[in-house]
Amino acid sequence: MTELLCQSDAYLKEFDATVIVVNGDQVSLDRTAFYPRGGGQPSDQGELTIAGETYRVLEVKKQGGEVWHKLDRAANFAIGARVHGVIDWERRYKLMRTHTALHILCGVMFRDYGVSVTGGDMEPLAARMDFELERMSATFAQEIEEKINAEVAAAREIRIKVLPREEAFAIPDLIRTKINLLPPDIQAVRTVEIVGLDLQADGGTHVANTREVGRIKVVGHESKGKINKRLRIVVE
Ligand SMILES: [Zn+2]
Repeated sequence: MTELLCQSDAYLKEFDATVIVVNGDQVSLDRTAFYPRGGGQPSDQGELTIAGETYRVLEVKKQGGEVWHKLDRAANFAIGARVHGVIDWERRYKLMRTHTALHILCGVMFRDYGVSVTGGDMEPLAARMDFELERMSATFAQEIEEKINAEVAAAREIRIKVLPREEAFAIPDLIRTKINLLPPDIQAVRTVEIVGLDLQADGGTHVANTREVGRIKVVGHESKGKINKRLRIVVE
């Protein structure tokens, strides 16, 4: 099992760990600050230094309880080696701002229009989100842009919690984010709350306050079906 340090501290940029498995160019550690791809958020990149040798981390994936770091070449070290990891912070911080922007967007869509999310995806500073919605227009997209930027300006705090399964299931707001699809063996649920706006079960990394997101622009809208509309945003 790899301890995911980024789940409790999204601002951690460097860490020390121990190698637990080596498989060619893939390495698993006892703890990591790297975010493994998931929930629409791409994985982190960065570097691992082991015995004075630095490897680039190209991709990070979670498999079962283990987090695998894919290196730029085969590992020249063994199990038990001490590692110093540094994440590519510039890229990660862009992803944190983008991920929080998406939560602001879905919070506004639900609060003001009662609309649910059907899907989404992001890269650093650009994202798309699909909504269960019949109508979309340039005027509506403009109205949404104004509302989401008002939430950035409102400087809302973002709180991360890990709740026991029973407690999480008792929160009505979490039900709409399909918490009921969680596998029965998951005993704790991590929640991300934009205080006063949005609450979701989520494993991603987020900024601590909505003002860190910066200006959000709605750059496109398209129909993906009768009751499915897509919005594209960029974070400036
Ligand atoms: Zn999310």
